[in-house]
Amino acid sequence: MSSSTVITNIAALVTNDPSLGDHSPLGLVRDAAVAVEGDRIVWTGESSKAPATDNRVDAGGRAVLPGFVDSHSHLLFGGDRTEEFNARMSGRPYSAGGIRTTVAATRAASDAELEAGLVRYLAEALRQGTTTFETKSGYGLTTADESRALRVAARHTDEVTFLGAHIVAPELADDPAAYVGLVTGEMLDACAPHARWIDVFCEQGAFDGDQARAILTAGKAKGLHPRIHANQLSQGPGVRLAVELDAASADHCTHLTDADVDALANSRTVATLLPGAEFSTRAPWPDARRLLDAGATVALSTDCNPGSSFTSSVPFCIALAVRDMGMTPDEAVWSATAGGAAALRRDDVGRLTPGAYADLTLLDAPSHVHLAYRPGVPLVAGVWRRGVRVH
Ligand SMILES: [Zn+2]
Repeated sequence: MSSSTVITNIAALVTNDPSLGDHSPLGLVRDAAVAVEGDRIVWTGESSKAPATDNRVDAGGRAVLPGFVDSHSHLLFGGDRTEEFNARMSGRPYSAGGIRTTVAATRAASDAELEAGLVRYLAEALRQGTTTFETKSGYGLTTADESRALRVAARHTDEVTFLGAHIVAPELADDPAAYVGLVTGEMLDACAPHARWIDVFCEQGAFDGDQARAILTAGKAKGLHPRIHANQLSQGPGVRLAVELDAASADHCTHLTDADVDALANSRTVATLLPGAEFSTRAPWPDARRLLDAGATVALSTDCNPGSSFTSSVPFCIALAVRDMGMTPDEAVWSATAGGAAALRRDDVGRLTPGAYADLTLLDAPSHVHLAYRPGVPLVAGVWRRGVRVH
């Protein structure tokens, strides 16, 4: 029989259940407690009504929220791109660089090196409160290199995404149709058993709307669910394709037409915003306020990757979203927890109600608002994943 634990004396508990507490979307309960048995939440409510359990933890008048659900990262890569970032931020030209640099380094890395990098970045994310993460292939771009990246990823998370269509492989740069044929054929056959999702970078210079539709449709036929890198650098067909194909998420959503916003608001496709990318490229911010006011569901994620957003910190993204994207602190925290869960079509994470996984983050602060109010401060004082304290 698994042991039970109650965490009491929580000043502010974010449940993401609007039937609880203040009945806001965060379902904020003051002077709260949460009870865990095995790997699940079994009870949530006011501290004075907490059930008897085997163990008791005193939160010391601090805040507890669901572990962050980071629904977009690229953690299977070799090398880094420090010099490229330094040149960009220093206003110096840098001609090599780009995704191709990481593709070369990733192909040259051993399986053990790839896995060691993944483990390192996951540990880093966990210390910052992330308990569920998605990660993608996309730096191998051959059948063997894409499938090995996914095999490595699947040892560490259920949320694995096949992104063979990140860019056209360098050796087929003159024949993109042949590369799309590879991605939808032999590469897909080898990768589908190791992934839940299929993704495509739908953008000028990567894959156009017709290519993206062909790739995602082929993936669906193999049992993978679509998600799309859409409208990051320019307006284009990505968001409307995401909605058309019932993709779980359209990611980036930086350059949107009114029709794109309407399409998202009238679908269950989540708009996942990734402000680390705009930060690291000095690009204009996505307009979260416009999406929220239209009624779209918004997720916040890191896009952790060595080229355009080398942060594993969801709290950093929350602070950016509040400062620069028009989100309230409550909205940003919801988007980084329940929003991320929606972007992965999960209802067992991103909330602290009976039946959900006991994935919790304890802040060294009396309120979740401090995640935006105290940017850059390491506020995560404790992390439980599946009922086990891991930090
Ligand atoms: Zn990405």
